[in-house]
Amino acid sequence: MSAGTVKVCSCGRPFDHAQWMKLPFAGVLDGDGEKLDLRNCSCHSTIALELPESVSVCTGCGRWLGAGEPKVCGETSGVLCDPCAETTGVVVRIVRIIRRRPAA
Ligand SMILES: [Zn+2]
Ligand SMILES: [Zn+2]
Repeated sequence: MSAGTVKVCSCGRPFDHAQWMKLPFAGVLDGDGEKLDLRNCSCHSTIALELPESVSVCTGCGRWLGAGEPKVCGETSGVLCDPCAETTGVVVRIVRIIRRRPAA
């Protein structure tokens, strides 16, 4: 791998960090002790990159969030960045308030 390359796809395409972040986000795999950022290569393979321990991935947009960055941990949605929490989190909150009302 050349300097700056973080991942090489099985099709041979190398990606540096900036190129990796531009790939379509496919999800996060949170296993025992390791987190994987999954992206789709233009050859249609899904490739995984191991994440640094301090990094969380927004499950809404795939942005990497550092330890100090604002994020929301949803019960089912996982980690969301601020803009994603605003678009999806608000809905979640409203649903919860409605559910908490006692049945008439
Ligand atoms: Zn590929
Ligand atoms: Zn986001």
